[in-house]
Amino acid sequence: MNTDLASQAASSDQPLVLPRAEHHISRTRIDDNTLKVLYRLSRNGYRAYLVGGGVRDLLLGQRPKDFDVGTDATPQQIKKLFRNCFLVGRRFRLAHIRFGADHVVEVATFRRHPGPEELPEDPSEHAFFVQNQFGTPRQDAFRRDFTINALFYDIASFSIIDYVGGLADLTARRLRVIGNPLIRFTEDPVRMLRALEFAARLGFAIDEPAREGIYARAPLIAEAAPARLREEVLGLFRNGVGSQVLRRAQAMGLLAPLMAGYEGDDQTFTLLEQVDRLTKETGEADEALIIAALFVSRLWRRLDAAGQIPISEVLELSGLLIGPYCNHFRIAHGLRHQARELLVGSYRLSRGTGRKGERRFLHHPSTPKALQLFKLWLPIHGGDQQLAQQWQQAIELAQDNRQSAPKQEVNSPARRPRRRSSRPSRPRRATQRQPS
Ligand code: ATP
Ligand code: MG
Repeated sequence: MNTDLASQAASSDQPLVLPRAEHHISRTRIDDNTLKVLYRLSRNGYRAYLVGGGVRDLLLGQRPKDFDVGTDATPQQIKKLFRNCFLVGRRFRLAHIRFGADHVVEVATFRRHPGPEELPEDPSEHAFFVQNQFGTPRQDAFRRDFTINALFYDIASFSIIDYVGGLADLTARRLRVIGNPLIRFTEDPVRMLRALEFAARLGFAIDEPAREGIYARAPLIAEAAPARLREEVLGLFRNGVGSQVLRRAQAMGLLAPLMAGYEGDDQTFTLLEQVDRLTKETGEADEALIIAALFVSRLWRRLDAAGQIPISEVLELSGLLIGPYCNHFRIAHGLRHQARELLVGSYRLSRGTGRKGERRFLHHPSTPKALQLFKLWLPIHGGDQQLAQQWQQAIELAQDNRQSAPKQEVNSPARRPRRRSSRPSRPRRATQRQPS
């Protein structure tokens, strides 16, 4: 590819157009429903482009997670073309074309970057998603975050259209912000986290102005909507780059404002690498496990200093440690509770087998996952490797016993309600039993 030409395209009004013969995107790699949508829009006289991450990933020879479509048809015009179309989002500006029960192709009318007077007052809403003014394809490219995310694939000519120099950056494996990073990060601070994520996922270098922009604007990310940040952080783990990105975010001063003052240590980042590895294996990011992994090293340090303390206090301490993170991200009570149980469970596991209350612990629903965390943590913290093995066997045995125990008949004597004794009942214990 001619790099000079590509950079020229970034500055001139005319895009760089790469014809079919000069790139290797094949339609066989685009999903059928997306192709149907593109063709129908195009046959009806509208422009129909594949946009965003799908084009980037196809050009990199990777399998895109999803395909998005951009068009100059308005939402109402799109709705008229597709029976299975539902308008969604703020002021119904996005079209979802549904195929079957679980496949949606998202179609967005080209939009432009809003002027300063059009930006919402609340900075947490400075998201890309609230831009509702329709625009030209060129304007649509320039409102996007990074050059590599702003390429279009035109279904009418099978060519790639590049307004921003994204093709050159793909070749150079460089992540570059469209426009001035200081301004773009101020408009939407979440872009800083996205920069680190794409760099990690694709193995790209972040160019100098964007890096400087992150150092300069990092504190602003604290103002972004917590629900969105939580989703972005989970997304890092879903993509198997949680550890890498959070480590780099910390080095660049982005982690503390992102996660309510959180600071990770080397052991935590190593543990998170293991969590990423596990996620890649299972294909699922487990949020309770992630929260527990973020705080396990801190808990251990406190416990090492405190010596033996009752489990009830370990539970309390765990709650205190994860509190600021969970409050900031408005984590629901059930999930917090799970994360706390994983922390406490992994601590119980570290104390070895044969303690009081072990039977109940072995049958507790969170114990297998606590063991999973413990197994990841043990080699990092150091400790008897055989311990995890012993627990694994004990848990499996407990499960086997439970499965092979005879099921009680509904009306069997054991299930019959006990007859009330005529003796007066014993008074309740005034003090709570001390947990083991
Ligand atoms: P992924 O593989 O994670 O889906 P993606 O590039 O498709 O990567 P999405 O979050 O799905 O990312 O967004 C789709 C496209 O929308 C991006 O490629 C980019 O062009 C644009 N975009 C998304 N978020 C922003 C943002 N905060 N600011 C500007 N443009 C954005
Ligand atoms: Mg996407």
